Amino acid sequence: MHATHAHAPHSPSANEVPIRSDWTLAEVRALHDLPLLDLLYRAQSVHRAVWKDNKVQLCSLLSVKTGGCPENCGYCPQAARYDTGVKAEKLMSVPAVLDSAKQAKDAGATRFCMGAAWREVKEGPQFESVLEMVRGVKALGMEACCTLGMLSESQAKRLKDAGLDAYNHNLDSSEAFYGEIITTRTYEDRKRTLAHVRAQGINVCSGGIIGMGESVDDRCTMLLTLANQTPHPESVPINALVPVEGTPLANRPPVDPLELVRLMAVARILMPAAMVRMSAGRQQLSQEAQLLCMVAGANSIFFGDTLLTTSNPTFEDDMRLLKNAGATPLQPNVDRPKVS
Ligand code: SF4
Repeated sequence: MHATHAHAPHSPSANEVPIRSDWTLAEVRALHDLPLLDLLYRAQSVHRAVWKDNKVQLCSLLSVKTGGCPENCGYCPQAARYDTGVKAEKLMSVPAVLDSAKQAKDAGATRFCMGAAWREVKEGPQFESVLEMVRGVKALGMEACCTLGMLSESQAKRLKDAGLDAYNHNLDSSEAFYGEIITTRTYEDRKRTLAHVRAQGINVCSGGIIGMGESVDDRCTMLLTLANQTPHPESVPINALVPVEGTPLANRPPVDPLELVRLMAVARILMPAAMVRMSAGRQQLSQEAQLLCMVAGANSIFFGDTLLTTSNPTFEDDMRLLKNAGATPLQPNVDRPKVS
């Protein structure tokens, strides 16, 4: 790809950077393996050409239904089969969720994501409640996002009709490595739900996790799979594994922050107009490592003291991070470059 020069300070547009969906693994790996300073320069050049200001999207994530999940994702403390101390809870009430959304909005969040530890959405009163939550979040003037497991086409349509802006469904890793981490569903299942979401015109939020024992090629292949979708996902969360006692990945060594920086940079170059999100594992990063992730193109963070069941930096820490970066929060649904 031809990264354009950094254009300052007029308003650049996505037109200056070609958006491709035909990357090869060799190309992606070559980017990944560049000397770090060259990689950062490439990523920052793409970032500056597409994103106008130093805006960072603040997303708040609430677990509306915690624990007791029948799936066996090796990284997840919410899987019922692992003894992690996470208790299975019932779906939260609609007013309680909307209270929490209001608080997140008051704290500056512009997107509110609701996560349920389900294998898939089942029709019935619980789904009706989730639809009510989506309508309520939209009425607050926030972007609404859900992550509820697998969805049928008709469920995706009902979520869209309720006003859902985005659906999160991570690919987690490469197809080849997927079976090492999860066996209760297939990569194909994952891709099918993503297709249902896309077909309804809901924005796609899909990314993955590093530090699970995957190879660098697995990481690159995951980004390649995302980048070769047309259009690209609008949001790409990149997580670093937070090993949790009781899960099969409890003893994985911590991810080197610079590996995370590399992946953020590659994601930015491959998917110039996507929001690249620093997600789980951010609390384990120094402020300087997070700033490097932002230089690499990360322009979205999960914000709030907990991230589903693992801890996240405090509000004060995040305000300090934004201030030190000279960044300000992105407003909902404005100033988005076109993704395709
Ligand atoms: S990641 Fe999601 S699907 Fe997998 S076990 Fe956890 S809650 Fe269930």
